[in-house]
Amino acid sequence: MSELTTPMPKLRMYIDGEWVAPASREYFETVDPFTARPWALVPRGNAEDADRAVRAADRAFREGPWATMHPTVRGKLLYRLGALMEEHADELADLEVRDNGRLLAEMQHQIRYIPNWFYYYAGLADKIEGAVYPCDKPALSFSQPEPLGVCVGIVPWNAPLLLMTFKLAPALAAGNTVVLKPAEHTSATALKAMELVEKAGFPKGVVNVVTGFGPEIGEPLVTHRLVRHIGFTGSTRTGAHLYSLAARDVKRVSLELGGKSPNIVFADAELDNAVRGVVGGIFGATGQTCIAGSRLLVQDRVHDAFVDKLAAFSRQVRVGDPRHPQTQLGPIANRMQYDKIVGYIDVADKEGAHRVLGGGRPPGEECSEGFFIEPTIYTAVNNDMRIAREEVFGPVLSVIPFHDEDEAVGIANDSDFGLAAGVWTGDMRRALLLSRRLQAGSVWINTYRDISYTTPFGGYKMSGIGRENGLEGIREYLQTKAVWLSTAREIANPFVIG
Ligand code: ADP
Repeated sequence: MSELTTPMPKLRMYIDGEWVAPASREYFETVDPFTARPWALVPRGNAEDADRAVRAADRAFREGPWATMHPTVRGKLLYRLGALMEEHADELADLEVRDNGRLLAEMQHQIRYIPNWFYYYAGLADKIEGAVYPCDKPALSFSQPEPLGVCVGIVPWNAPLLLMTFKLAPALAAGNTVVLKPAEHTSATALKAMELVEKAGFPKGVVNVVTGFGPEIGEPLVTHRLVRHIGFTGSTRTGAHLYSLAARDVKRVSLELGGKSPNIVFADAELDNAVRGVVGGIFGATGQTCIAGSRLLVQDRVHDAFVDKLAAFSRQVRVGDPRHPQTQLGPIANRMQYDKIVGYIDVADKEGAHRVLGGGRPPGEECSEGFFIEPTIYTAVNNDMRIAREEVFGPVLSVIPFHDEDEAVGIANDSDFGLAAGVWTGDMRRALLLSRRLQAGSVWINTYRDISYTTPFGGYKMSGIGRENGLEGIREYLQTKAVWLSTAREIANPFVIG
């Protein structure tokens, strides 16, 4: 059958252990960003589907095997899910690339790494301990950490499986049930992962995936009265909106939002390494990461030489088919984002920044259809320009010179965001002092963009609330119950307590 006559696969949502069509019976197309052509139909979920999924998750939380399952058994299920992901890594990587255009080589690497989250939190599941307090009353007082209930995970399109896992693994390890909503552009891998959830043997309703657009199904999830926690990764604008909705019924939130992270290069750095770190920081994932090192702060003494090296390196970057093993920069993940980045390039030009590299569509047949933008570098950027203050979420770097440590810290911290920062220097005294002074949730010294399941990740200021990963990651999904067991023989005076 030719490609033209093959019908597009119709994806189904996963609710209460069943593969279901949306209540609306409507679907929308998901597009391969390399070809700019649709390849599958995604269920257009609405409030009815949200309600169904939340009720299923609530039932699974209160009744059924999950509610009474010993944490060691929960851990075993999580471990099994990790192992299944490892087994199906190639298949998942392939789907991820088709939906968001990230490099196949990078996705294969990333998806083989993701199971570690499940292994790590599987191990933690039965090590969540309370405490006994040195109580001053005739009582034994102790605490019991408990799950929250139904947790909603709202995930963006830039790293769908990874960012889903950041939420799913600790939420389940803590004993919660989960409703996930992937981004409308990238729903396929979350749904595929549900086949593995099923295979691993999770009881029905413990994990659910609904798909669709933010206002149509995301908001009904966030405002659902049976939901107790919202884990969100995405733009600061949407995050702030969801925060205000969650506040209405005092739901807990973990928000991982935007960034405008400074990557600071001192003259005493190993400059070739720094070039690689800066390139990885802004052109890795085609700049579509919240931690992108989108402001390059370079010490004035080496500014020109460093920019020359950086431009020379970036000029050689191979842009093209994300499945080609030599490609280093793939397409932008969707048309909306492509248009946004093109708009920012126009803004930077008009603001008077000096474009030393890129800015257009790369030449050649390979990049003629997809959403491609060349690696783009601007010098003569002032930290007050929009290109230095707003998140572009694309392969666009703003270079800002500085004279000394104080000035570097001043510029770096002069931002609404505070997600990450990089410092490139040979002087460890300076590195340590800067790591203290920089207002950022992650500070990388002589490296950039490292993340791990072991190490907390999250933002300062408008970059977010709460932490994902590591021990801190599981605390987001727990609440503490204090239990008082009286040792008094009688209640002496019921009106005087304390
Ligand atoms: P972007 O602008 O980069 O697409 P968003 O922050 O808008 O990023 O999207 C991240 C996730 O939030 C996606 O899953 C999206 O569907 C969801 N989302 C967007 N708007 C809302 C909303 N009003 N309520 C709930 N979820 C939303």
